[in-house]
Amino acid sequence: MRAGILGGTFDPVHFGHLRAAEEVADAFDLSTVMFIPAAKPPHKEERELTSFTHRWRMLELALAGNPRFALSDIENRRPGKSYSVETLTQLLSQLGQDVFIYFIVGLDAFLALPTWHRYRELFALCHFVVVARPGYSLAKLDAMLHTAVSERYRYDEQVPGFVHPEHRTVYVRQVTLMDISSSKIREYVSRGRSVRYLLPAEVEAYIYEQGLYGRR
Ligand code: ATP
Ligand code: MG
Repeated sequence: MRAGILGGTFDPVHFGHLRAAEEVADAFDLSTVMFIPAAKPPHKEERELTSFTHRWRMLELALAGNPRFALSDIENRRPGKSYSVETLTQLLSQLGQDVFIYFIVGLDAFLALPTWHRYRELFALCHFVVVARPGYSLAKLDAMLHTAVSERYRYDEQVPGFVHPEHRTVYVRQVTLMDISSSKIREYVSRGRSVRYLLPAEVEAYIYEQGLYGRR
């Protein structure tokens, strides 16, 4: 079995997340893609995060109707910060060791990986599928893998991605590029600008109903 996971703060979830997950699920024949909202993201302490309940509810609305997508509260059940290495270890013990996990990450997030807690261990636990995001260069990916993870990662264009004799593969996939981010959506909402067509209409309606992101 192959399962994809997509972690994030999802504040709020948008079409960039959904489309990337859908395309990777197709390309890798994944039986499921699990969306895992971070309860206490180690990197996002500088701003006030929307409550887990709101972020969860928006994900429920966005994922409804796609049988391949699932939602996991695994990081909200654990006390303390949400570290991916702990989530993956826990998932592997729940799903069984014969499940291959494909960790879907945007290039921006992947380049920041060396700042993650015990990040090197991740390369023994799961494959990565790195998807491009506008404004981030793929050349940096090569440099980061070699300096921060292992010099023995080699690019293979047949894959396409980086293979290693012992570690899992780091796949690189082009998905439909969407210059959409949650930060942009929060900013637009706060300025009273339209966010229509950037995220599912149900999520947009929820934002206004609940008065999220300080709409003026
Ligand atoms: P913020 O602007 O608050 O950082 P975000 O849009 O980057 O939000 P996150 O919840 O931080 O969303 O991202 C979760 C994961 O989804 C990360 O791996 C990120 O790189 C990826 N991602 C987010 N937006 C896109 C997009 N438009 N295309 C591809 N991947 C994306
Ligand atoms: Mg982000």
